Amino acid sequence: MATQVMQERQLNFSPGPAVLPVPVLEHIRDELLCLPGAGASILEVSHRSKQYIEIQENAKASLQRLLGLDDSYDVLFLQGGARLQFSMVPINLLRGQPAPAQYVVTGSWGKNAVEEARREGKVEIVYDAKETNYDRLPLASELSFRDDAAYVHITSNETIQGVQFPSDVDAGPAPLVCDASSDFLCRPYDISKYGLMYACAQKNAGPAGVTVVVIRKELLERSGEDLPGYLSYNNHAQADSMWNTPPTFAIYVLGLVTRWIEETVGGLEKMHQRNQQKAALLYDLLDAFPEFYIGHAKKSDRSLMNVTFRFPNDALEAAFLSQASKHGLTNLKGHRSVGGIRASIYNAMPMEGVQQLASFMKDFATSNS
Ligand SMILES: *Cc1c(COP(=O)(O)O)cnc(C)c1O
Repeated sequence: MATQVMQERQLNFSPGPAVLPVPVLEHIRDELLCLPGAGASILEVSHRSKQYIEIQENAKASLQRLLGLDDSYDVLFLQGGARLQFSMVPINLLRGQPAPAQYVVTGSWGKNAVEEARREGKVEIVYDAKETNYDRLPLASELSFRDDAAYVHITSNETIQGVQFPSDVDAGPAPLVCDASSDFLCRPYDISKYGLMYACAQKNAGPAGVTVVVIRKELLERSGEDLPGYLSYNNHAQADSMWNTPPTFAIYVLGLVTRWIEETVGGLEKMHQRNQQKAALLYDLLDAFPEFYIGHAKKSDRSLMNVTFRFPNDALEAAFLSQASKHGLTNLKGHRSVGGIRASIYNAMPMEGVQQLASFMKDFATSNS
C-alpha cells in the first residue's frame, strides 16, 4: 500500500465490519481496475461470467477444505446478514415440524434469534444466562436437549458480551444450528456435529454483504414448496447460490480471506493457536490488574474474539478511550447495551496489533491504579 495511506491506518478493534488482512486489501487494490482475464473490474463483471464463476467456486472449495466438508454438506452464499438467518432458520427448519426448536441463550444475539424464531413456531429456551448478565456459558449438566427437537440453536461467540464456546457442542440427535457470525473460521470444527452453521462475513471472514450458510443436505428437504423464493435454502442450493445475483464483490473478498487462512496462516489449527496467543496477551493483563480491568466473562468462558471489560469508574473509561485513540488504537468502546470496553481481535488482527494494545493497557493500569 502507498506508504502515506499505510501510515494513516490505525489499529482497528471494531466489532464489525472489522479489520481485514492487509495482504487481502493489497490484492484487491492490485486487481480492482481489471480482474485478470476478465477485461473489467470484479465490480463490473457478470455473475455468469467464466471468471466470476471460478471465483465463487474457489471460495466454496476453500471453505470445504477448511471446514472438512464432505458431499453431505452444501455451502450457500446469501445476503441479508445473520439477522435474516434468525428468520430463515425457523422458516425452513421449524415450520411444520412436530417438535419445538430449542435455543441456548448466552447473550444478546441469541436473544434476538429467539425473538424471530417465535414468529415461526414453538420455541423452548434450554438455557438463558440473563440472571448473570450473560457472563457465562452453561455447564454440560445444565443442558438437556430433546432427541426430537426440530433443531438446537446456539451462538458460538456472543460478540457483545465476549462469551464463547471453546469447542463443539453436542446436541445429540437433533440438528445443531450455530450462529458463528463473530468467530467463523477462528478454530477447527468437528463439522459432523452441526446440521447448519451460518455466519455473516463482516466480523471474521470478509466484508459486509455476504452470509455463509453451511447446511447438511438432508435438511434441505424441510424447505417448504410454498416459501417465498429467496427464503428457501433449497432454492439457493439447487441454483448453486445463483438463484439471484449473488453479492459478487463480497464473495470475491471472502475467497481471498479463506485463501489467506489456508496459505499464509496455514489452516485453522494455526489460526486457532494465533488467536489463543493474541487473546492471552489481553486476558493476562485483566488477571494482573483485576480490580482495575474488570472482565465481563467468566474466565473459562472468555472469547478469543471479543475481549470485554470495564473500569471501576466512568472517568477511567473515558480517559482510556481517549488515550488509546491518541496511540492509534481505535473502536474500543463497548456495545451501547453493556458499556465498558470491547477489544475485538478477529483473525485478521495481527499479533503486533494486540501487543501494542497490551502494552498500552499495561502502562495505563500502572499509571492510574
Ligand atoms: C453481528 C452479529 C449478528 C448480526 O449480523 P448482521 O449481519 O448485522 O445481521 C448476528 N449474530 C452475531 C453473533 C453477530 O456477531
